Amino acid sequence: MRKDVDLHIHTALIGCANDTMGVPELLGRCEQEGIMSVAITDHLNRPDQLPTHHLIKQQLREYEGPVQVTWGVEANVIDPATGAISVVEEHVEEMGFELVIAGPHSSYHEEPDVRSIVDLQHRLMMQVVANPLVHVLVHPWWFGRREFDSGVLAWLTDLQQWPEAQIRELGQAAAETGTAIEMNASAIINSPIYGPEFLADYKRAFGILLEEGAKFTTGSDAHNIDQLGRSSDAAEYLEAIGATDEDLLVPEPTDWS
Ligand SMILES: [Zn+2]
Ligand SMILES: [Zn+2]
Repeated sequence: MRKDVDLHIHTALIGCANDTMGVPELLGRCEQEGIMSVAITDHLNRPDQLPTHHLIKQQLREYEGPVQVTWGVEANVIDPATGAISVVEEHVEEMGFELVIAGPHSSYHEEPDVRSIVDLQHRLMMQVVANPLVHVLVHPWWFGRREFDSGVLAWLTDLQQWPEAQIRELGQAAAETGTAIEMNASAIINSPIYGPEFLADYKRAFGILLEEGAKFTTGSDAHNIDQLGRSSDAAEYLEAIGATDEDLLVPEPTDWS
């Protein structure tokens, strides 16, 4: 499987990635690492971040190296009642984003109500996959450290609470809509939050998604320049479940002229 594709990279400009992730610096590191097809996908959580996306786009336009770059954005689910995401059609039109990656970034719970958390998260992922603006569902079954520390997700040490029927349903929906599902290195595979039981289940879950015909992407989700190159770990995970390049989404690079 191709190990030179990374469709989930943040920059220093929005402020989520650190100062090492300037646009020329991160593309230079991709060249060194042999990561030749990338998408720059910084967060757009609020409309007041649009001017910063214009700056990122301008800097990408100035890049003249060999890395093929697709112009993208990462959206959050902002309304758990409707599954609405933070990127809407007007943003895509204004900015010309060619790859929209999106997913829930919270359990939306204050208590460790396992069934309710699992069912809501499943419904939100299904809504993201069905959203016609979205090309990639990012880091399925991922949650931030804060919710583990608070106890809301302390039970989430593996994926045994996730019914196989839900995983199949997600895979079927992804196959039908063509929305790819991301194997994410920094948020999942290389994250200290997730132990070996979780990661073993994670591979099994992706095996089910593959059986149902879902396509995949690989992403480093780098927030630090030393995390670039990790997308090859994601490719190894996909290889381990039997996925091939045929199962991998690689978008056309953006025409910056
Ligand atoms: Zn994310
Ligand atoms: Zn991200």
